[in-house]
Amino acid sequence: MKALVYHGPGRHAWEQVPDATLQDDRDAIVRIDAVTICGTDLHILKGDVPTCEPGTVLGHEAVGTITAVGAGVRDRRPGDRVLISCISSCGTCAACRAGSYGQCTGGGGWILGHRINGVQAELARVPFADTSTYVLPEAVSDEDALLLADILPTSFEVGVLNGKLEPGDSLVVVGAGPIGLATILTSRLYSPADVIVIDPSASRRDAAKRLGATVTVASPEEARTALTELGHPAGADVCVEAVGIPATFEACCSLVRPGGHVANVGVHGAPVTLHLEDLWIRNVTITTGLVDTRTTARLLAMLERHQLSVHGLVTHRYGLDEMMDAYDVFGSADANDALKVALFHRG
Ligand code: NAD
Ligand code: ZN
Ligand code: ZN
Repeated sequence: MKALVYHGPGRHAWEQVPDATLQDDRDAIVRIDAVTICGTDLHILKGDVPTCEPGTVLGHEAVGTITAVGAGVRDRRPGDRVLISCISSCGTCAACRAGSYGQCTGGGGWILGHRINGVQAELARVPFADTSTYVLPEAVSDEDALLLADILPTSFEVGVLNGKLEPGDSLVVVGAGPIGLATILTSRLYSPADVIVIDPSASRRDAAKRLGATVTVASPEEARTALTELGHPAGADVCVEAVGIPATFEACCSLVRPGGHVANVGVHGAPVTLHLEDLWIRNVTITTGLVDTRTTARLLAMLERHQLSVHGLVTHRYGLDEMMDAYDVFGSADANDALKVALFHRG
């Protein structure tokens, strides 16, 4: 089979590797029908994720058709069309039993395309198939389902739900990449009154506007003005950090109102200053999190019933064998007006 293999910082190739095979009786083998590339894959390629060893097949967001299951798999069978979650869940450890699949201590968590071979391949081995895949309803397309592998549950759980967004709230989203944009989409489930989006990239601001932002601005200073003009001079009820750098976390802490919530989604690679000297008196709640994907089934049900739209998030489409081109385009996403790229198994 062909797969996208990480060969150490700056080196990756779409190349021939041995076919994925069953290794545990809870595994499934899935033929990949649609797969996407994540900003996290680019972090791995830069060498920012040392736990991912050279030789690993990348990718943790895919849809496919099961071709084989181990003897211990009870509820999945060959032919099932499934969403492969970015988080694998053993289903039985204390964390999984509490719904914190991201924190699984039974061998799951974020393992695909990280600690074990991932899904940017013609075939993938998916551990704990019963508890780490979702059978897809016919009404949901491969492309739409793909967005539920990571970005929708991440933005909903770590952004909207951790941020305790309520109807009528003012929401600031810092960063309008796929995660920030998916935060705008999933925030609508809680009907915020105003959604102010900050991103220095004009093309990302345009996308944010298309997906429902009330106001888009390029800097925290402009966001402060917008909040005041919209009737929120004390700050936003909820600020979601969707970039992962010190400046954007600090912007969230300064734009949130007393008693409000800062929900950090961004992955930080450098220390950040927590301004407790300003924050201590303002009753601000700050949350962090790795996605658990505990809401995936619910989001899927809403997608099926058209209560949630993911339209506009996929901007570029390829065949699987165009993987290297897709990486090039996604690697310069801003210059290419790219949000999510989707690659499909063709015939
Ligand atoms: P991305 O790189 O595609 O988008 C980031 C956006 O931030 C870009 O549009 C960029 O223009 C904008 N930006 C850069 N500097 C900015 C600034 N100073 N102010 C405002 N905006 C700025 O990333 P993404 O795929 O949307 O992911 C966002 C973050 O979420 C990343 O750090 C990613 O690693 C993280 N993430 C976290 C989880 C989790 O479980 N917590 C899961 C997936 C991704
Ligand atoms: Zn991802
Ligand atoms: Zn577990």
